[in-house]
Amino acid sequence: MFIDSHCHINLSGIAQRLPDVLEQMQINSVTHALCVSIDLDTFPSVLKIAHAYPHIFASVGVHPDYEHAREPDVDELISLAQDPKVIAIGETGLDYYQLKGRTLDVMAWQQPRFRTHIQAARATGKPLIIHMRSAAKDTLRIMQEEGAAEVGGVMHCFTETWDVAQAALTQNFFISLSGIVTFKNAIKIQEIAKKVPLERLLLETDSPYLAPIPYRGKPNEPAYVSHIGRFVAQLRGIEAEQLGAATSANFFRLFRIRSK
Ligand SMILES: [Zn+2]
Repeated sequence: MFIDSHCHINLSGIAQRLPDVLEQMQINSVTHALCVSIDLDTFPSVLKIAHAYPHIFASVGVHPDYEHAREPDVDELISLAQDPKVIAIGETGLDYYQLKGRTLDVMAWQQPRFRTHIQAARATGKPLIIHMRSAAKDTLRIMQEEGAAEVGGVMHCFTETWDVAQAALTQNFFISLSGIVTFKNAIKIQEIAKKVPLERLLLETDSPYLAPIPYRGKPNEPAYVSHIGRFVAQLRGIEAEQLGAATSANFFRLFRIRSK
């Protein structure tokens, strides 16, 4: 009934319990998951899981936070994205959270790396998975400058304002809600969760990070996207089944997946 549009089940800690993680997905009616790449060194482990299980998909990309990660160029991303299980480019984007008042030149790699990913997405026709933290203005500007709207994608783990959400929606992007929406103090995101058009909404765990209530502080896993889905359905005053069906259809439409 639900799909986890963003998880990292290849990472150490959760990867060791993969059979259990997949069983819990089944028990909780979580039908599919997208295992998202964070760098080129661990990309083979993402691909390996996606190849082993028909209901797990992969992306390819290098996270903006990793200064010392091997830098991809457009051609390498295009070539890695040729694998049929790779359905998206990312995660990419901008993250100025660590800047804390310093000027941007201490993170000079971020913007060129982001542009590289958008160019690869346009060349392959595959949508983008965008990580945006404390950098909404520059993220939206670079998306615009590079023509990200042509392929679209998802603003993952969305925690920005409604204005930013609208700007992303205008650029052909979906809004994905993580377990943060279930936190008691997440009033602002809960308001956004009610407003995003149902046909542009996705759900994710970002596991093993960010476990939703009632698991906050514990390791997260894709099965818990069912808690997020039920919570968001309640916020919007609709049945969980309706939200599950809509967000699942959105996932297949965005990532151009024909068969379920
Ligand atoms: Zn992530």
